[in-house]
Amino acid sequence: MSINSQREFELLKKIGFIRTSGSEEELRAANILVEEISSIGCTGHLEDFKVPTSKIKKATLKVVEPYEKEYEITPYNCSIGIPEGGITTDFVYIEDGLDANLVDLKGKFVLINLRPDPKLYKKLIEAGIAGYITMCGTAMDEEDKTDIAVARMREKNTQHGKIPAINMRMKDCFHMVKNKAAKVKVEIIAEDIELTSHNVVVTIEGSKYPDEIISFGAHYDSVPFSTGVYDNGAGSVIIMELLRHFKENPPIRTVKFVWYGSEEVGLLGSKAYLQTHEEELKKHLLMINVDVAGSILGREKVLVTAEQSLVDYIDHMAKIKGFPLKVEQSIYSSDSTAFADTGIPSVTFCRFAPQGGAFIHTRNDIIDFLSAEALEITTTITKEFSESIVNSVVFPVERKIPDNMRKELDKYFDKESKKED
Ligand SMILES: [Zn+2]
Repeated sequence: MSINSQREFELLKKIGFIRTSGSEEELRAANILVEEISSIGCTGHLEDFKVPTSKIKKATLKVVEPYEKEYEITPYNCSIGIPEGGITTDFVYIEDGLDANLVDLKGKFVLINLRPDPKLYKKLIEAGIAGYITMCGTAMDEEDKTDIAVARMREKNTQHGKIPAINMRMKDCFHMVKNKAAKVKVEIIAEDIELTSHNVVVTIEGSKYPDEIISFGAHYDSVPFSTGVYDNGAGSVIIMELLRHFKENPPIRTVKFVWYGSEEVGLLGSKAYLQTHEEELKKHLLMINVDVAGSILGREKVLVTAEQSLVDYIDHMAKIKGFPLKVEQSIYSSDSTAFADTGIPSVTFCRFAPQGGAFIHTRNDIIDFLSAEALEITTTITKEFSESIVNSVVFPVERKIPDNMRKELDKYFDKESKKED
């Protein structure tokens, strides 16, 4: 069967609406995927899991000295609130939060250039700050064109304690710093809630080695404000095309296809899958992930969290076939990394746009910057690789995560700083 990228593009348009973690729209997209799976002649099912998040009831920030102005803010989900009536406290801009920036911060609200990693987060807690502000967008953004990203406080940070955290437009932060804002009044009323998110799962049993599993993954959720076609409706339709291929060309090993929900809030779909399929995981030989594709302007990239010989194989295959792609041994912030962390080698295929050529995580992630032709490139490459691996006479990839990758994974999931405690 040949790839039909027009069909992929049509499905991409069908799921190209905002579908955030645990929302009704995410479930609607899941059901569209299940229908498409049925139309291929396979049976897909939903697996649900819980997503802890927050319901924000009130969130205000006002500069009260030396001038008065209220700014729009979005609190982090899963951080903590500030009681009714709010707090009024000193405001300090601490740049990148280097040690010299962290002096005399007790009880103060700080603005920081970056989202603190667990190490810096811990230092902020120890410095006794009242809360922190991170920025999104650029100093040039226009209010009606930039949305404030909804961030979620990760467990790797909150293991060190909870403090209020908010996100603001860089344009507003710039205004505050330029005008020497010195005191702010902040109020955040939030409630912890739990939503239900879903993974979509389908299996085609291998004709010769049914107990050897290669799994395909793509996350189908989006961030708020974004129709998430480039990230990652594209990967979702690409693996659907691969499912079609393996349905028509039965594989000798078992292939599993999983569309993950809630990837954007911390790989929660893949983590849930790994937790609930512990027995089955022993049979998993490799995870093949597709995350970000379809951009008209772009370049092909493969990230391999496995032994170096798999990097070399993909590189050689690409050259032999004439695929222009770059492959490297690395980890990638996607579901593949959760798999690699449990010891299953993983590979992610992507098509990255050059800066400004397509946009992730904003309202500008729209179908206009994508095409069927571009989807076809990544689909062809992923299919070529997958087919050779799934149907290999002797499975060539060792089920092992090399030491250098293990180090990267531990850093990503912050196991090092946990060990220090
Ligand atoms: Zn993504």
